[in-house]
Amino acid sequence: MEEVQKIRTACRSCHGGCGVIAHVKDGRLLKVEPDPDSPISEGTLCSKALAIKQLVYHPKRITSPLKKVDGKWAKVSWDEALDTITEKFKRIIEESGPEAICIGQGTGRDYESFLYRFANLLGTPNVITAGHMCYVSRIGACLVTCGNLPVCDYDGEPALVMVWGNNAPWTNPDEYKGVKLLKTLQKGAKLITVDPRRVYLAERADIHLQLRPGTDAALALGMLHVILEERLYDEEFVSSYVHGWEEFRARVAHWPLDKVEAITWIPREKIVSAARLYAKTKPACIQWGVPIEQTLNCTDSNRLLVALMAVTGNLDVKGGNVFFVPPPVRTVTEVALHKALPKEKKEKMLGADENKLAARVALVSPKHVWDAILKGKPYKVRGMLLCGTNPVVTRANSREVYEALSQVEFLATIDFFLTPTAELGHVFLPAATWIEQDYVGDFWKRHGYVVARRKCITVGECKQDHEIFMLLGKRMGQTQWWNTMEEALDYMLEPSGLKWSDFKEMGYLKGKMEYQKYLTKGFSTPTGKVELYCTTFEKWGYDPLPTYREIPESPYSTPELMDKYPYILTTGQRIPVFFHAANRQIPWLREIRPEPICEIHPDTASRHGIKNGDWVWISSPRGRIKQRAKVTDIVDPRVIAAEHGWWYPEMEAPGYGFDVSNVNILTDNDPAHYDKPMGATNLRVLICNIEKCEEGD
Ligand code: SF4
Repeated sequence: MEEVQKIRTACRSCHGGCGVIAHVKDGRLLKVEPDPDSPISEGTLCSKALAIKQLVYHPKRITSPLKKVDGKWAKVSWDEALDTITEKFKRIIEESGPEAICIGQGTGRDYESFLYRFANLLGTPNVITAGHMCYVSRIGACLVTCGNLPVCDYDGEPALVMVWGNNAPWTNPDEYKGVKLLKTLQKGAKLITVDPRRVYLAERADIHLQLRPGTDAALALGMLHVILEERLYDEEFVSSYVHGWEEFRARVAHWPLDKVEAITWIPREKIVSAARLYAKTKPACIQWGVPIEQTLNCTDSNRLLVALMAVTGNLDVKGGNVFFVPPPVRTVTEVALHKALPKEKKEKMLGADENKLAARVALVSPKHVWDAILKGKPYKVRGMLLCGTNPVVTRANSREVYEALSQVEFLATIDFFLTPTAELGHVFLPAATWIEQDYVGDFWKRHGYVVARRKCITVGECKQDHEIFMLLGKRMGQTQWWNTMEEALDYMLEPSGLKWSDFKEMGYLKGKMEYQKYLTKGFSTPTGKVELYCTTFEKWGYDPLPTYREIPESPYSTPELMDKYPYILTTGQRIPVFFHAANRQIPWLREIRPEPICEIHPDTASRHGIKNGDWVWISSPRGRIKQRAKVTDIVDPRVIAAEHGWWYPEMEAPGYGFDVSNVNILTDNDPAHYDKPMGATNLRVLICNIEKCEEGD
């Protein structure tokens, strides 16, 4: 019997990258505890990490490759599973070209660059991720506006934080865990929150702006209106570093406060107070979340938040929103080999003519892929490889997704469990969790760190995603792969002069921070300035100035539907124990949140005879689902807030109840309604009605 080993690693049950100490004995995980020395999580862990042992050793976890034979899953060897995929993909490429294969992922288990390397070497431009409406859309909008993603500089001690569409202590966003925000507030920073729900942070805020869901861009324009009219902007920064100031001023002038109040439902006095407080308190940062990206205003909402940072002089200054300097390791672009994809293949990317910003950041809005499968337009997608994603539950218009994945000629998936998506496939490859892999973690992030994720245990025949792409790539004849994972990690670390064997003992690397880089280098945009008038968008034929467009389904754009669907439904808020569609089968986590919850204001609930805990039908023009009512005044009486990601692993295969409580049965993916540059769908805002479920429903 060996001693208990304590191995320092980094969690990846969400994007946090929190520091973990794994206790391992005789090759078995005993428990995990927080790493007090982690600069990311500072000695904290959430329930998802603490429950990792239940995921790792879950009785229903798939730990060997599967292949469907006569409609039933059968265990096969890795060789047979990989050969099956390889043969099928080679045939599709020969007959229809590599673009007939689509590679996809969800929010990612930190393997994006390996997935892209595989796709690029395969020659397909068709990669779907969550990026069209989550995080990558923010990066895309920032790249064309200011050249990089501005992130809150909590270590620089902001005097004010404006938390916009984000509930960081609850959801732990990409660059930071909520712990940094909470510590900043404990030190006395002021707080403005922008959220349709009056959550914990809103309760302790100096000002809470409870806006109508989806109207963030209008609110930002209103705040800018105040800042410009009252000359609260940083004149020196604006005159030296902003491109298109006069055009931008003219655009903002079209958004007087009476108009903004009518759109956002926020009293004008509150907008004025928030604008003044944000503009006058220095330094100030904006902690922004993905809700603003999940509407047709995706790109412009992002551009307008950057505008707020820029005009108030809070961009790349200590304590503001900064461009962190990454540690000296390979970039995502280098590892992903984006340059290896031939130009003629890039031109075949689905939807590239329409969603030019999505094409720039190398992804396809999924609706184009469903259309290509179901209608063969502009060409047929015949094969798919989906890694760590459950689009049947997580993408807009679930029924269409289900139909498309049922009809695609060949589907292989890589995951931990059979899900409603994986069940539609032909081959299943078992993935290793974060505690079963070696990796240079989070090198794609923009918070200035990379972390060492270390293999602490092995489980069954599971392989880490990176290795799976490497093995498949080699079988497909791709030569630009490494022989071992260690070689790959050494390559990633090469610019730092470190080897994996050194780095894994160090735990993390931090880039050397430098503020106000624009003073010497300008901004990485075509004009070298913050482009409030976007020259790239002008070239692409989009509006170069940001604006607000009314949500496609709302009391203002579809008044004729409001009798039937009188409420605004907002969805997608994260649940701390789950990560989107993941973890519903983990006992400790499911015990905390056994059923889906929809929040209903007491006045609304009483109008429908609904009591706390009742099952409620929620219907939209596309269908109906049921969730449990939580009667609460944290939402406006005109708004219903429903959870996303729900399926029931305990229900019968193959669907596992994906259509019972899954909010994407209700959402819309009509291209006429999405954000043109990115192809972002209106996941966050639609219209609905509610009705109490009857006995037996
Ligand atoms: S916040 Fe995310 S990365 Fe951190 S412990 Fe929780 S699941 Fe892991």
